[in-house]
Formats: sequence, structure tokens, C-alpha cells
Amino acid sequence: MKYRVIPVTPFQQNATLLWCDETREAAIVDPGGDLQKILSAAEAEGVNLTQILLTHGHIDHVGGTAELAESLKLPIQGPHQDDQFWIDGLDQQSRMFGFASVKRFSPSRWLQDGDQVQVGLETLDVLHCPGHTPGHVVFYHAASGLAQVGDVLFHGSIGRTDFPKGNHADLIHSIRHKLFPLGDEVRFIPGHGPMSSFGDERQHNPFVSDHRG
Ligand SMILES: [Zn+2]
Ligand SMILES: [Zn+2]
Repeated sequence: MKYRVIPVTPFQQNATLLWCDETREAAIVDPGGDLQKILSAAEAEGVNLTQILLTHGHIDHVGGTAELAESLKLPIQGPHQDDQFWIDGLDQQSRMFGFASVKRFSPSRWLQDGDQVQVGLETLDVLHCPGHTPGHVVFYHAASGLAQVGDVLFHGSIGRTDFPKGNHADLIHSIRHKLFPLGDEVRFIPGHGPMSSFGDERQHNPFVSDHRG
């Protein structure tokens, strides 16, 4: 599996192009906006976009979904159905976060913990990681030790939990009991900012490091 991180929107949200090197089939994770930038990246890599994957329902992550899905006839997988209220509330979100209004959409498939998603010949495992939002999911490619964790965990920080249905205890539990057991060497692409590894965060992250207890 190969990848390219494409920061989009004024929130510099990491849209991630993931593709299978053998079939050149690609998924775009969290197309928040700046669709031209995403399409140019896919063209530059010579890959064929075949699906949209969503980690959670926040507008900076899903803002470009309807337009992209309609124009290229792409299926939408994710997030978990517990984020449906965020997607149904995209109009309020655009006012709340100062985004131009975006079209609503319905995922082709809601995802649950333990589901798998296929990108060409590559398989991604789905982990339900509530806390930042109740329906947040993480995509994990075990074969290359790479995770796309959205707004669950960042380099040196964790997701906000002060939004409706956010839950700090759930978030900490998701990180410590779902993500960290995948292994210290696993590298992750967060929803914003630079990549890191779970081992690094276990050492240095002030919110979830091991010595925080
Ligand atoms: Zn978010
Ligand atoms: Zn975000």
C-alpha cells in the first residue's frame, strides 16, 4: 500500500490518498475540500480513484464528499453510524466552522469495529474509536504497519472532546486499548499535522503517555 498526504481546507486537514501498487486502485480518506488538489495528486501518482473513506463526520474531513462522489460515481464507506447526526447537520457545521455550505450525502456503507475495506489487493482493518466523535473510525493497514487515525490522536496531542457527544474517557480508552496494542512501530497519519508512531506517543504524548498512568 502506498500513500500521499494532501492537506486541504483552511484547517489543513490531512486528506490521504491510499493505493494498491499492483492494481493502481486508490481510495481517498477524508476529502474535506480542495477537490482539485486531490484530483491532481491522483493524476500525478497515476492512480484511479475508486472510493471515498471517511473517519468521522466533521466538515473539514467530509466537506468535499458529496461533490466528489457525484462527479466520479464513487461509493462512500464510513464512518460508523453513530456519526450520522454530524453528517445530517452539515448545514449547521458550515455556519459553526465558517465553511461554504456543502451538499449532504449518505454513506454507501456504515462501518463497524472489525469490518474490513478493500483497496485493490490491499486490506484495511476498521477500528471503531469513539471519543472525539461517537462514530469515529480508524483505518489500519496491518501489512505495512500504517494507520489513518483522523482526529483521535495527533503528534503530541489528542482529539478535542468538547463537541456534542464527545467523551474524553472514551477517547483515552480508544487510544490506549485499540490503537496502542497495534504496536509501537506502527506509524500513523493524523487528521492534522505531522505523522508519528504509536511508540513515540507512548513515550512523549502528554495526554496518553505510559508514565501518565
Ligand atoms: Zn474532527
Ligand atoms: Zn479535523
